[in-house]
Order: sequence, then C-alpha cells, then structure tokens
Amino acid sequence: MTAEIIDGKLIAEKVRQEVAKEVAEMVGAGYRKPGLATVLVGDNPGSQVYVSSKQKACAELGIESFGFKLPATATQAEVEGLVRDLNADSRVDGVLVQLPLPAGLFEEDVLKTIDVEKDVDGFHPINIGRLAQKGRDPLFVPCTPYGCIYLLKQVGVQLEGANAVVLGRSNIVGMPVALLLVRENATVTICHSRSKNLPAICAGADVLIAAVGKAEMVRGNWVKPGAVVIDVGINRIDDPTHPKGSRLVGDVAFNEVKEVARAITPVPGGVGPMTIAMLMRNTLRSAKMAQKLV
Ligand code: NDP
Repeated sequence: MTAEIIDGKLIAEKVRQEVAKEVAEMVGAGYRKPGLATVLVGDNPGSQVYVSSKQKACAELGIESFGFKLPATATQAEVEGLVRDLNADSRVDGVLVQLPLPAGLFEEDVLKTIDVEKDVDGFHPINIGRLAQKGRDPLFVPCTPYGCIYLLKQVGVQLEGANAVVLGRSNIVGMPVALLLVRENATVTICHSRSKNLPAICAGADVLIAAVGKAEMVRGNWVKPGAVVIDVGINRIDDPTHPKGSRLVGDVAFNEVKEVARAITPVPGGVGPMTIAMLMRNTLRSAKMAQKLV
C-alpha cells in the first residue's frame, strides 16, 4: 500500500482563504478588523522567523498585527506589564508571547497574565485546564495540536473508538493533542522518553502522532498497516547531496512508513503550515467573540 500524502500546505491555504473571506465580510459589515499582538523577547533566530511568518500571515489575511520586541534582559515585570497593556488594548484580539522565553523568565507566569479571552495560542492554564476537563470547553485550542486534528478530519479518519498513540508529552504539542484526541472519543496512549517498547505500542495505533523531535525515529515496521500517521517533528539532518548540505525531516521515516500507512503527513509541508493557519483562525474567532458576532 502506498499512503495518501496529506497535503498540509494546501489544506492550510484553504483555511487561510476562509479566514481572509470572513475577515473581509466582517470589515465590509462595519466591524473592526481582527488584531494580533506578538511579543518577542530576546534574539532567538528561530523565534524571530516564527514571529515574522505570523505577522506576514496577518497582513495577507487582512488581520492587523502589532509587533513588540523586548531585549533578552527584560524583567518578568516588564514582560507581564506589556502583556497587561495589550490585554487592555481594544484593537488587540490575540496576545501571542513567542516561546521559548529567555532563561530567567517564568513562562507559566507570563502565560497566565494573558487575558484568557485573548489567549489565541491556547496555552493559558485555564484554557489548558478546560481542555483536560470533561464537559468544559476551552476558548482556544493550541494551534499545532488543533492543526493535527484538523488534518485527521480532512482525511476522514474515524476518531471515535480509534486507538491513538501520541509520541511526546510536551505542553505545546504532545499533551494537548492527546487531550484533543480524548475529546474526539479516541482511546489514547501517551508515550515519552521513559516509555518502554515503543514499536509494540505503536503497532496497535490506528492513528499515530509523532512529536518527539528525533529524526526519523518511527520506522516502517512500527506502524500498523492502514494507520494514519501525523508527523509533527521538524529535524534538520546533514545531507551532502542537498544544495544547503542539510535538509528537514520529521520524526517518522517517511519513505518506509508511506508503504504501510493509509495516510501520512510529509515534512516539510504537513503539520508545519497548519500551525499559523490555526492561529489565524483563533484570532478571527477572538475578534468575533469580542464584537459579539459568535
Ligand atoms: P519537546 O522537546 O518539548 O518534547 C519532546 C517530547 O518527546 C517529550 O515529551 C519527550 O519525553 C519525548 N521524547 C523525547 N525523546 C523520546 C524518545 N526517544 N522516545 C519517546 N519519547 C521521546 O518537543 P516539542 O513537543 O516542542 O516538539 C516536538 C517536535 O515537534 C520537534 O521536532 C519540534 O520541532 C516539532 N514542532 C513542530 C511544530 C510545527 O508547527 N509543525 C510546532 C512545535 C513543535 P519526556 O517528556 O520524557 O522528556
């Protein structure tokens, strides 16, 4: 069997077009444009790239963006003070503090300063807490996990009753994606660095989500024939045959697993583009809530 390749780039582009259309309709009806504030602390080059991609996406979709930069020496009080100012700014629907923060700053304290109604990254302890509780709904769901579930639904996977295995338990990807799968009524196994016998656990998965950050760790013989595989990992490996001398790969050995799985996301071009698309969706939703449109 050769798997369906889940085209995250195309699916993300469709989500972005839908957001752009809804933004245009909102503005056409006399409502305020959605606004996203980004807070970048320090000079982490990866974070700078992520923040500028988010700002570019806003510009393309008609969303206002407000960029704030603080030096790596900023104090906890300065970062939280900026977040409070943005909470109070009625033009701002979403406050996004780019992670990771420089050493010495307390991430959880910063995240819980964000107004829960502007928490478009979905990392506020109240939103994560609601995600984990039965019968409660978070206002926003973290963007990468939200993108994973969106892709699974696009390929028409029956999540209810499915055996899902999540490799990784981070706050950003593994744990929230596992919680979302539970909400979809899947039976979920969460694995991490101390888990034993990963190949045998993965072999029982109808849905396998890999978010470990280990290049091509999941091999073809780990995967149940017909499983759907979502590869969140982004790893750079040396490749002298490549013009740059390196290339990006996921946590899944793509060429092996595509011969076994029913569907699989590639890296790049799978989950990656979904993250920003879902952030735009969350920002639009926040603007609609603020203007009583939902
Ligand atoms: P973290 O490093 O925060 O978490 C990695 C998780 O994997 C941990 O729970 C860790 O276990 C587990 N793990 C590590 N090694 C193993 C192993 N050998 N076997 C089983 N589990 C293991 O990473 P993130 O969750 O932030 O990111 C994971 C990957 O996803 C990275 O490649 C990252 O670049 C990518 N990513 C992609 C995004 C996108 O938009 N596509 C967005 C965010 C991340 P333990 O808890 O025990 O340490």
